[in-house]
Amino acid sequence: MGVPLKQQIGLGMYILGKKLRREKRYPLVLMLEPLFRCNLACSGCGKIDYPDHILDKRISVQEAMDAIDECGAPVVSIAGGEPLIHKEMPQIVEGYIRKKKYIYLCTNALLLKKRIKDYTPSPYLTFSIHLDGNRDRHDASVCQDGVFERAIDAVRLAREKGFRVTVNCTLFQGESPQEVAEFFDHVNTLGIEGVTVAPGFSYERAPQQQVFLQRKGSKELFRDIFRLGKGRGWAFNHSSLYLDFIAGNQNYACTAWGNPTRNVFGWQKPCYLLVGEGYAPTFEALIEDTDWDNYGVGRNAKCGNCMVHCGFEATAVNDAFANPLKALRVSIRGPRTSGPMAPEQPFIYDNPDSQSVELTVETDSQDRSERVA
Ligand code: SF4
Ligand code: SF4
Repeated sequence: MGVPLKQQIGLGMYILGKKLRREKRYPLVLMLEPLFRCNLACSGCGKIDYPDHILDKRISVQEAMDAIDECGAPVVSIAGGEPLIHKEMPQIVEGYIRKKKYIYLCTNALLLKKRIKDYTPSPYLTFSIHLDGNRDRHDASVCQDGVFERAIDAVRLAREKGFRVTVNCTLFQGESPQEVAEFFDHVNTLGIEGVTVAPGFSYERAPQQQVFLQRKGSKELFRDIFRLGKGRGWAFNHSSLYLDFIAGNQNYACTAWGNPTRNVFGWQKPCYLLVGEGYAPTFEALIEDTDWDNYGVGRNAKCGNCMVHCGFEATAVNDAFANPLKALRVSIRGPRTSGPMAPEQPFIYDNPDSQSVELTVETDSQDRSERVA
């Protein structure tokens, strides 16, 4: 199914307007993190290690509306933490729908059955359900048995009630392409619009050589998966050129300002993945005061293995705008799964460690399981 045509046209008109006004940096998706508290404690989570007084903070309805008015993005991804824990989430969603913003409400789905009555189906609202693979893989990923089944039940319930639904999946090296293919087959039978997929982001810095190997490993994994997927009719919630990028066929630089993050600390520099780079008080200050040239693959050791959509989907969309025939070709044929890969962005720093920045955000050594809401 993929992204509905009306939404694609709306996004296209927005980009065209920005290009005609010659705006250099503009957002496509606001990443709203309205709280960091969660009801799971996944091993790979980079969001729940804050002390309780920070986990108890919430972005208010007014702050959520101000964030979208400030940046003007046509799409909002509401993440966290677990957004369904936020007591004012229905009002935030309602406010964004009134503003005709396309909302992806990202959830681990544990609370969806209980809270779904607080929401009304709308072309502007999509539940994006976190599922990292088949039962064993997902339950291991979220460190709790039974979560996969509850998430699948939530997908079915949301579809029965007429909501738009996508599945949000993160893959890591060492995955079995065959198992991922079976997982994509399964979720595509559930009436979802598509799968949002990305290679997992490692928060550890790596030496240059290892970075290349990690990136190559991710691209080979996606080539293997897409090769298996030919003719199986999978729908993805991405532009065709982003899929081509993660399969190693595009040499893209990061467009981090395309997916700005507003959370309980302010506007996070430069993206939701990097901690310790500081916060801006307003969207305008984020755009003006962030040293964007200091970020991206080859420019900053922390970015070395990043191929995540928050940095590269906006690059791919801009490329599709500039080269529509290329985008159409990839869309019809699918990403290329053999032959040479596109070269990497050049590394322009000498010593990866020289870029290291100490964490400035408070964390806490409390056991993760004790944080669960
Ligand atoms: S579901 Fe897991 S990854 Fe997502 S916020 Fe909660 S603990 Fe983190
Ligand atoms: S490359 Fe990734 S981690 Fe680095 S700024 Fe871009 S989106 Fe953020």
